[in-house]
Amino acid sequence: MVSPLVDVFFNGTVRLGSNTLCDGYAYGFPFRVQTHIHDDHMGEFNRSKGFQDLFMSQETRKLLIAERNADLAYRDNIIPISWGVERNLEDGSTLFLLPSGHMLGSCQVVLELPNGIRCGYSGDFAWPLEDVMQVDQLVVDSTYGNPSSVRRYSQDEAESRLLEIVSQRLRYGSVHIKAHRGTIERVLHVLAGNVGVPILVSAELKREITVYQDHGFAAETLETLESPAGKLALRERSYVRLYSKGDALGNELSEGTCVTCSAYMVNSDDPLLKFSERAYRVALSNHADFEGTLAYIVATGAKQVVTDNTRNHGIDLAMAINRRLKGVHAIPSTNCSPPV
Ligand SMILES: [Zn+2]
Ligand SMILES: [Zn+2]
Repeated sequence: MVSPLVDVFFNGTVRLGSNTLCDGYAYGFPFRVQTHIHDDHMGEFNRSKGFQDLFMSQETRKLLIAERNADLAYRDNIIPISWGVERNLEDGSTLFLLPSGHMLGSCQVVLELPNGIRCGYSGDFAWPLEDVMQVDQLVVDSTYGNPSSVRRYSQDEAESRLLEIVSQRLRYGSVHIKAHRGTIERVLHVLAGNVGVPILVSAELKREITVYQDHGFAAETLETLESPAGKLALRERSYVRLYSKGDALGNELSEGTCVTCSAYMVNSDDPLLKFSERAYRVALSNHADFEGTLAYIVATGAKQVVTDNTRNHGIDLAMAINRRLKGVHAIPSTNCSPPV
């Protein structure tokens, strides 16, 4: 096959055509698309701010402003794009974004080059997905690109198991729940109105969740640790505390139960893993699993696929695509250095 117009550099930066990068910086590329705010996609954001035009969804921009509180709101090279609205770039290509279902603001990226070829990057994505981009060439996230990454339970089941264990453990004291950004808001959504105790968060996390609430998610009153209601709940040991990025969860809880929510595949039919009476893990995931990833690729219509081999399982996934998807040719990303 002719070499694709898309690739991934060694540091995880995705290249679409010759002027546009996603989730990273390299010299000589005037445009960057930010697919979402997870740390492993934020590489060299500050440098990009200085040198590139930065495109992202409205929601991602708001989350970044809530987190960084900095000059972002006033910069004219931070350019929010509404879902599905085409944006013409100065090199004659056209950019547009569709939601990827992974967290608030997360997107799939479509870049139509001046010659009409459509390049895309899935970003981190969930499956099933309502609106799948249509592209010729695709860079696909390979987080669950390994054939053993198959879930035998639905995310609804994972959510019910979470609610069950939280309600049960609240009888013995406080419950402490830790999850990634985006997932912690889903946890809140599951608990909302169902636990009968205050839900406590840090002031930082409250700021982030407020952005979700502005977009209609996770409607629930939260108490910060410092508020009078928060202090009372802490004394009475009757509360749920949520932890996300930057919130330290001490090595040991003096009382209460710890529940970690993560995409980790517990290799069983049960999304709940028990470590002890006071420690659990629930496999809550905002990522498509292996079969979901293949179904997504088919839905994009891409005939040339580059699997992201910088983060995870790119080789396994490329092999599986070539074996299982008729008419689709896949290679792992080269992970080369950016041109200098
Ligand atoms: Zn992510
Ligand atoms: Zn990721």
